[in-house]
Order: sequence, then structure tokens, then C-alpha cells
Amino acid sequence: MLVVMEKSTSEEKIQVMVNTPMTKPYKLVSREFKPENTQVTIGDAVFGNGSLPVIAGPCAVESQNQVLSIAISVKDAGAKIFRGGAFKPRTSPYSFQGLGKQGLIFLAKVREETGLPVVTEVMDVENFDLVEQYADLVQIGSRNMQNFSLLRRAGKSDRPVILKRGMSATLQEWLMAAEYIMEEGNNNIILCERGIRTFVRHSRNTLDLSVVPAVKKESHLPIIIDPSHAAGVRDQVISLAYASAALDADGVMIEVHNNPKEAMSDGAQSLYPEQFIEVMKKMNAIHTIVGNNSEKIPC
Ligand code: PEP
Ligand code: MN
Repeated sequence: MLVVMEKSTSEEKIQVMVNTPMTKPYKLVSREFKPENTQVTIGDAVFGNGSLPVIAGPCAVESQNQVLSIAISVKDAGAKIFRGGAFKPRTSPYSFQGLGKQGLIFLAKVREETGLPVVTEVMDVENFDLVEQYADLVQIGSRNMQNFSLLRRAGKSDRPVILKRGMSATLQEWLMAAEYIMEEGNNNIILCERGIRTFVRHSRNTLDLSVVPAVKKESHLPIIIDPSHAAGVRDQVISLAYASAALDADGVMIEVHNNPKEAMSDGAQSLYPEQFIEVMKKMNAIHTIVGNNSEKIPC
């Protein structure tokens, strides 16, 4: 808060500004404003109640058979929500951009056949109405974390929103982006840590594990981890998935493909369905022992 006393000299004014802590640039998303955890429920999955729901599926929707085959296997392994991009925010304009509306139709069929809710990315305000019609929850991707008109539109939606962290966003910037959504009236927001860009070259991004307890201290919103986009390579995804299960995270999102070698995007980081089964078993075991730290000793 900036307190300026009426008769103070300009030097005193500066002194007051320096000594008085700023109020936070966000309010609705803060734990100060709402001390209890927000729980977001979609189908069988509850984010924010100490459980570890898993979202799984390919990076991109490629065909009806591809998504159905992957959905059946990830559901069998225990995934609660199916993911798949129909509108893909690709770094190169020459890369596969997604099937658009046809991809959404394929996702709707997956929901019909498997009963799994589906999440897909919405890239712009223009396509929001369309995506919203097909998706059970909408994802705002890393590259759009500060697309303020998109955030405001998401705030007017009745669909829960997964808000991915921008690849170079601070915790404060991320929470301010969530504030844009909540300020418009949508309280069902799930934050998703997906790795940040650092100087390292051995992985696609660097998974910021410590942001999970930091978010939990600062905000009541659930936070999930996407080890796939953080790692960029399959073997590291597996290790990071186990690390995610050991944290106090509220869920995990993993890319799985039935034929990663031929995938139209992110094949190198996509798990084979058999690997996903193993990962699910171990993540559940780890989470039972060390996850859900709500009872932890206060420090
Ligand atoms: C995705 O989840 O498909 C995606 C593009 O992720 P990110 O926005 O984290 O790069
Ligand atoms: Mn991807």
C-alpha cells in the first residue's frame, strides 16, 4: 500500500514508499483472501483434495482411431481425464497445426465411448465458443499465459480452466494471469507447472519443483504438474513423474502416444502405453507414502 502523508516533503514521501509493503497485485487467487483450498471437480477427478488425478493422452489429436486407442489404454491404467490438442500452438508455422474442429469432434467421440472427460487447448478468443462446446475443461497454454483478452474470455466460461505457466513467468505473473480469469467470475482454475526455460541443454525446459509449495503457500488454487513438456524426452518424463507424485501437487498431466515414433508432435516425450501403466502404478505408490502433505509439520 502506498501511504503518502499530506505535508511530507518529497524525500519523506519516498521514504514512506520504500518502507510500506505493497499490497499484492492479485487478490481473489490469494490464500490471504480465501484460506481453504479450492477444489475443482471434473467427472471422477477432484483437483485440490489431496488426491492425484492424472490427465493423459497425446500431444495432438491425429485421427479417430489414434485418440480412441490411446484413451482406452490410459483409462485402463487409471487416468481420469483425456487430453489431446486440436488447435496446436506450434513454434514453427510449418509444423502440424492440429485438426481444428475435426479434432474436437474426435475428442467428443472419445468421451462418448470411454466416459472420460476431455481437455483441449484454446488458442484464441475467436475459437473459444467452439472449443467450449466440445471440451469438458479448456487449457490455456504456456505461450498464451499473458493473452489477457483470452484470459478474460476464459473467465466468462462455465468450463474449468487449466492455466499453464508461461515459460519465463514468475509466480506472481502467473497468479496475476489467474486473477484475470477469476475476476471475470470463473473460480474453477487449475494451475499447471510445465517447466521454465533455463540455460540447460539436457532437457527441453527445467521443471520448477519448488513452485508447487510456493504456489500452495500463496494461493488456494490447485496446481498440477506436466512433466512431459518440462522434460521433452521420455526417460526424463518418467523420473519427473515420480518426483511430481512425491510433491504436494494436485494432479499430473502426461503425454502418451500409441506410436510415438510417428507422432505428429512431441513424439520424443510421449510415453508408450505400457510405460504409462508402470508409471501410474509407481506414482500411486509414491503418492501414498509421501504425497498429500496436508498433515505436514508446520515450518
Ligand atoms: C500442450 O500441453 O499441448 C502444450 C502445448 O503445452 P505448453 O503450452 O506447456 O507448451
Ligand atoms: Mn505437447
